[in-house]
Amino acid sequence: MVVKEIPLHENLSMENRSTNAATPTTTTTFSRSGRHYSLSLTTAVLLVSFFICTLLAVGFIVYNFATCAQLQAEAGEEIICTSVHRNKPKSSQDDGAPKYDRDVRLPRSIRPLKYNITLEPLLSGNFSFTGSVQIRIRVLEDCYNITMHAEELNISRSDAAVHRVLPGGELDGDSLRIHKQYLVGAKQFFVIELYDKLLRGGEYVVHLRFDGIIQDFLQGFYRSSYEVHNETRWVASTQFQATDARRAFPCFDEPALKANFTLHIARPRNMTTVSNMPIVSTQDHPTIPNYVWDHFAESLPMSTYLVAYAISDFTHISSGNFSVWARADAIKSAQYALSVGPTILTFLQDFFNTTFPLPKIDMIALPEFQAGAMENWGLITFRETAMLYDPGVATANNKQRVVSVVGHELAHQWFGNLVTPSWWSDIWLNEGFASYMEYLTADAVAPEWKQLDQFVVNELQTVFQLDALSTSHQISHEVYNPQEISEIFDKISYAKGSTIIRMMAHFLTNPVFRRGLSKYLKEMAYNSATQDDLWHFLTNEAKSSGLLDRSRSVKEIMDTWTLQTGYPVVKLSRHPNSNVVRLEQVRFVYTNTTREDESLLWWIPITFTTAAELNFANTRPTTWMPRTKTYELENRNLSTAKWFIFNIQQTGYYRVNYDPDNWWAITSHLMDEKHFEEIAPANRAQLLDDVMNLARGSYIPYETAMNLTRYLGHELGHVPWKAASSNFIFIDSMFVNSGDYDLLKNYLLKKLKRVYDQVGFHDSQGESEDILLQLKRADILAVACHLGHQECISEASRHFQNWVQTPNPDANNPISPNLRGVVYCAAIQYGSEYEWDFAFDRYLKTNVPGEKDLLLSALGCSKEPWLLYRYLRRSVAGQHIRKQDLFRVFAAVSSTVVGQQIAFDFLRNNWQEINAYMGSQMSHIHTLFKFATKRFNSKFQLSEFENFVKDARWDYGRPVQQIVEQIETSVDWMNRNYKSIVKWLQNEERA
Ligand SMILES: [Zn+2]
Repeated sequence: MVVKEIPLHENLSMENRSTNAATPTTTTTFSRSGRHYSLSLTTAVLLVSFFICTLLAVGFIVYNFATCAQLQAEAGEEIICTSVHRNKPKSSQDDGAPKYDRDVRLPRSIRPLKYNITLEPLLSGNFSFTGSVQIRIRVLEDCYNITMHAEELNISRSDAAVHRVLPGGELDGDSLRIHKQYLVGAKQFFVIELYDKLLRGGEYVVHLRFDGIIQDFLQGFYRSSYEVHNETRWVASTQFQATDARRAFPCFDEPALKANFTLHIARPRNMTTVSNMPIVSTQDHPTIPNYVWDHFAESLPMSTYLVAYAISDFTHISSGNFSVWARADAIKSAQYALSVGPTILTFLQDFFNTTFPLPKIDMIALPEFQAGAMENWGLITFRETAMLYDPGVATANNKQRVVSVVGHELAHQWFGNLVTPSWWSDIWLNEGFASYMEYLTADAVAPEWKQLDQFVVNELQTVFQLDALSTSHQISHEVYNPQEISEIFDKISYAKGSTIIRMMAHFLTNPVFRRGLSKYLKEMAYNSATQDDLWHFLTNEAKSSGLLDRSRSVKEIMDTWTLQTGYPVVKLSRHPNSNVVRLEQVRFVYTNTTREDESLLWWIPITFTTAAELNFANTRPTTWMPRTKTYELENRNLSTAKWFIFNIQQTGYYRVNYDPDNWWAITSHLMDEKHFEEIAPANRAQLLDDVMNLARGSYIPYETAMNLTRYLGHELGHVPWKAASSNFIFIDSMFVNSGDYDLLKNYLLKKLKRVYDQVGFHDSQGESEDILLQLKRADILAVACHLGHQECISEASRHFQNWVQTPNPDANNPISPNLRGVVYCAAIQYGSEYEWDFAFDRYLKTNVPGEKDLLLSALGCSKEPWLLYRYLRRSVAGQHIRKQDLFRVFAAVSSTVVGQQIAFDFLRNNWQEINAYMGSQMSHIHTLFKFATKRFNSKFQLSEFENFVKDARWDYGRPVQQIVEQIETSVDWMNRNYKSIVKWLQNEERA
């Protein structure tokens, strides 16, 4: 799954916080106008209470991997609801605690083999569906219970039946005698208790009939709609990862419980259904007029969360057995995905040396989709912006995103679908791997984009910030209930996962890495696996290639990265009069080091180059720093070098700190306009990011860091500038409420001058121009306009006014697509209600998904409090702004100093309603609060948040702890560093 869907760079507002913020309006409408459906506030509150109760109860039930016999003792419990809060999650390292106190796993006594599912959905009226399922199971130990998952389904008790499979393969005519059937709401279990014993080794078939509602939450089996000439068209589709297949049919909903699925789905004659497998036959529905049945081919063994189907009136285009689907008036924009999809598929088959096992692939762009995309086997679902690309209208960024997301999801077809993590704790393997492959597949499709160079700034350096908090978590992380499972689809799993896989690919070398993977995929196909299984195959390959000596294993190395939280900083120092360089490792944190953090140690691959060698190509480690606090490296070239740089291309997941002399020598080299480019761009980005963060964490004085940034005056590289701007965004967000913001602004504008002049405010329309230059321009102009660059702002308003005066602005937009983000934001930021309303009208009228995103982000740039309140209110009204886009709106509003407080107030007053509107997953609300508190840096703001958490009676779990730590760190940062940076900037201005 691709979850990230937030703009890459923020549009920070440069003025001081407005002190007269308007009172928030608290009325929030939760009904959708028109005839289709409405959800009253009362219903919403009831729903949210129900969900919260369910979630809370989950935490209370002790469930020790029960066998059937044990489960009997708990029989009779229905939905258990208490008003008490869930316990604070225990650390998985806490060995004394009971391990499964939040566990909601199925008993291991039964294994599903085959599912035969029929579904009859109504795509109008009350959107109900009826269905039946026959599940063939094998019994692994004698028991009296069949326990499976079901959620929000009515299962007909009178139709339930269990038949034994006779030795000849026939079903026994008599059903086993059923004692009772009941739900265990807190575990989302449906249990059939029998009088007759299920015998170990025996096979049985369970028959169930059920019905449910095609929900409007974007999970399970859900509906969405779009308009054609003011007529509403409905789409019914699925999103099952992680734990929502159980909302569509009763099933054994755990990733390791793979089975073959055969689906039969009814639909209106004028629509189409696509699913994981191709349709075998279609026949008229005997009772519903104008309905037909589609019968799909049986799938290969797969996990429940990968089952998918979508019913729509979409059209498609195909290339061989690869098809893309979209609404008819957008299908032209699917051409690009269709042109890159098969190329990537071929690349991956070659990379894994394993043939794609399914007969076809469909990709479909859905009008409403929570994540970015989902890798269902053979039917990949997307939100429109992640699959549709309209040349000439969409941005270069949008084009790259399509390629990345398609690459990500296709990589999952092997890594995740063919071989699946045994449990969600290992989801990082799936997501880390797919996120890493995004870069390789994009490089295969368009090498001129130099995507591999972008990796350090897009993935590694962004997750470095989160992983430096002491409330971060280890990447391979125990999770138990659905709430925790949904929370683990986070940056740690994706970005840290991809970064340590990249590190491994570099230390194993590409051929060895690929051979190991290929053997793993072949050996474990149609099965589930743990990270240890992968380490096993990679170790074998590394040893047979002589890369690792007998006593070492990939597991020994990688466990230090996956089973420990955080990452190290390696401090290097030279010994006078010797050939020894001393390495010392310690966990990198911003503040609050605990003793536990200090004892963490890693196996660290060491690469380096010197001022004399300037070799930034060799990323294979010349040595390893073992799991010891200090290590001495004897190397005459190093000890006598003018300077050295460790961690070539930043392939290792660690920071590097040097002694003052080495920092000074590197800085001098960077200051040399003729020679600074001898240091590779990725390493220039590394130096900037390391030095700024080392200062932020008080490992070195800010003076050292700020001195190094002086060289930016002649830096023209995109990747180093990305590293610099993301670091200055942090300082900017701390300074923006201070009286010295002008010092920072003037310094940065001075440094930006040359690169601004190079990119200019002109973007040649069309495809001919260098895409890297287009991307760099968009980033540099965003920073310049944000800082109040005069020309940038006046150019932006001029472009916007041109558009305003264009006849029929919906059909004719004279602004080049790559400049639109900057132009819209600046025009709305410095404009009035008029500009805002003009942009909102264009948002309503445009049919281009990427353009809608740009406008939604820009609408948050306003400085007018009432406009921002109105905007937030509209985002949850369910009328003009899609549910899937709520995050974008909140991220945009939270990204300015005015908007942030407004977003916080709005959330504080309306979080329960928003939670109900979004379908009750608390992780959504946590994310919104993360946006709104990002630049909190005073004790007062900290207590505001903490008081809110107390009043709302929230569980003080990891997401809340992370927000609190983030704010505490910023408060602390202000106390420690603000004055010294001001002093440095004053000196710089005088110089
Ligand atoms: Zn994924």
